[in-house]
Amino acid sequence: MENVPAMFASMVFDDHVMRQMLPKGVYLSLKKTMSEASALDEDVADVVAAAMKDWAVSKGATHFTHWFQPMTGVTAEKHDSFLSLDKNGSVIMDFSGKELIKGEPDASSFPSGGLRATFEARGYTAWDPTSYAFIKDDTLCIPTAFCSYTGQILDKKTPLLRSMDAISRQAVRALALFGKNVKRVSATIGAEQEYFLIDKKDYAKRLDLKLTGRTVIGAPAAKGQEKEDHYFGSIRPRVKAFMADLDQELWKLGIPAKTEHNEVAPCQHEMAPIFDTANKATDANQLTMEVMKKVADRHGFACLLHEKPFEGINGSGKHNNWALSSDEGENLLDPGKTPGENAQFLLFLTAIIAAVDEYQDLLRISVASAGNDHRLGANEAPPAIVSIFVGQELDDVISSIVGDKAVAAGKSSEHIDIGTSVLPKLSKDNSDRNRTSPFAFTGNKFEFRMPGSSFNIACTNVMLNTAVADSLKRFCTELEGASDFNKALNALIKRELIAHRRILFNGNGYSREWEEEAERRGLSNYKKTPEALIHYCDDKNVELFKRHGVYTRQEMESRMEIGLEEYRKAIQIEASAMLEMLKRQVVPSAIAFSKDVALSIEAKDSIGISAKGERSLCAELSSDIDSLYERIRVLEKDLSEVPSGIYESARWCADRILASMDACREKADDLERIVDKSYWPVPTYSDILFYV
Ligand code: ADP
Ligand code: MG
Repeated sequence: MENVPAMFASMVFDDHVMRQMLPKGVYLSLKKTMSEASALDEDVADVVAAAMKDWAVSKGATHFTHWFQPMTGVTAEKHDSFLSLDKNGSVIMDFSGKELIKGEPDASSFPSGGLRATFEARGYTAWDPTSYAFIKDDTLCIPTAFCSYTGQILDKKTPLLRSMDAISRQAVRALALFGKNVKRVSATIGAEQEYFLIDKKDYAKRLDLKLTGRTVIGAPAAKGQEKEDHYFGSIRPRVKAFMADLDQELWKLGIPAKTEHNEVAPCQHEMAPIFDTANKATDANQLTMEVMKKVADRHGFACLLHEKPFEGINGSGKHNNWALSSDEGENLLDPGKTPGENAQFLLFLTAIIAAVDEYQDLLRISVASAGNDHRLGANEAPPAIVSIFVGQELDDVISSIVGDKAVAAGKSSEHIDIGTSVLPKLSKDNSDRNRTSPFAFTGNKFEFRMPGSSFNIACTNVMLNTAVADSLKRFCTELEGASDFNKALNALIKRELIAHRRILFNGNGYSREWEEEAERRGLSNYKKTPEALIHYCDDKNVELFKRHGVYTRQEMESRMEIGLEEYRKAIQIEASAMLEMLKRQVVPSAIAFSKDVALSIEAKDSIGISAKGERSLCAELSSDIDSLYERIRVLEKDLSEVPSGIYESARWCADRILASMDACREKADDLERIVDKSYWPVPTYSDILFYV
């Protein structure tokens, strides 16, 4: 292994390189831009660009690209070489400040949800100096935001940056109430990434995996995950080699990959990095997914990032660990030790509880997709109901504050008086690991477990940052005007906790009883994507984003439209891939096999030997083929009758097409169980998941 500290971030134009390569004044000006998220001075850009180019060329780069995150969910890039001709016609390597700050990719082929008609195709990308440039495949990649010429946002990064500004503004205000003078508060994120690794040869043989990322047919293997022998199990050498290689590639890109382990399902693994500010963590996670796929390929694997590649075993998620950190390095979700620290913590905690309750629909919406619908509520991932787990100790504290239970707070049997009482010490591992909660407090951060493994985490964090900014705004306005701060703080926290307590739930989120209880509490439970997305532009949500300058109504409508369309397209592609596999692979192989069985019956009959077993098998094959074909016809019909309307078509997919696909799958899987393996056209679950 190479020297890790020397290798770490060797492909990143980070602070260390900047300090070395930039004149002091330029460096300071750029740092100011970065720490305060302010606008960049144009003269500075020229100097920075030249330094960046020299550095990149010294590392073997020949091209540059603005690297952005359009609404497709994957990152986009358009490469230009540094090559330029000087006055004498000689080749020089050139890169200007203008090229660094602004790019003009053709926007017409990216989803805009009707925001930008194709005739006004012009869009531009703008450098986000708060995220470092890096080199990937001999190309200098510059993280950028992507907007239309009319200023509407067309990407996932811009709203994230806006939401980070929003929460910073309000958190700075809140800290001022406690006598702290900070300039910036950042949302910090650690995104744990789950994935499957399967053999590339199996992957190549399955149209469903190639086109949709998941298996649309496949009977369960004799062994699933019931023995629980994979989780944290010893890692097989081939996977170990992949992980070591992945770590190195990520480290070079400055991504602090920290933990690698096996997950619950066979062939499922996880990588967790050390946390960073929200925008850097988001960029890093997008890159991580890309690098995982590339490195997997080098090791003869296909890396599956789909939320539910295999039925009957766990799917993959992406745990979004979230906290707030001041520019002094204080984690605002750390309960602290003194009454003052405790009071500040409780104010932030209350703001989060209120935000998650009021905007539970937005959090659900932020994780809605065709893939993730298979996970949420499926007895393995949190349910589609958003609730918060705070752990027993913190729950006791809350009970004491709202007055229905006395808790030892310094002295025994007293109700907690915020601002003077010291909270009982929370054990760091208090969370006793409630894995069934979608939003769990884990000592000094919250872990949001609903995002799917393939998601860009920007959207979830836009929701979270803005919603929490909103409750802080409300609280600050009230507290700033108070004559007796402690008294006002006590009253506010008590009132808000009472109002939003319904969102707290410490029990088993997978249980049927919780669904009923949640309904009694009035919590929303949107099981499928269209049901959730249709609430995106509810007035209260539009008002929220408008208040904090994150989205306009039009931008939100476009995002809702894109989400619904993406959902419809995903299911249509799945259904089409399924039909192709059924009609051209499954049915023909079942027919070929049944024909051979029939020939065997004929042969045995001719010599007067009983063929009872074959007869019974042949009849079963024929009957399964018949009913599979009937179901294929229904699916074809459903697919040809998708209504127009964006919402209506998504609903049709959710209600009709998925049901017809399930019906087809049932019969195809029945056939898989009885057709001779040598006739079966695709690798099965046991082939794929239990390779040596
Ligand atoms: P576990 O899942 O066992 O609780 P850790 O607590 O070590 O593991 O961390 C899980 C993830 O949370 C890691 O990616 C880690 O970097 C991240 N994390 C830790 N502290 C914070 C924080 N203050 N803000 C955001 N993420 C954090
Ligand atoms: Mg975790």
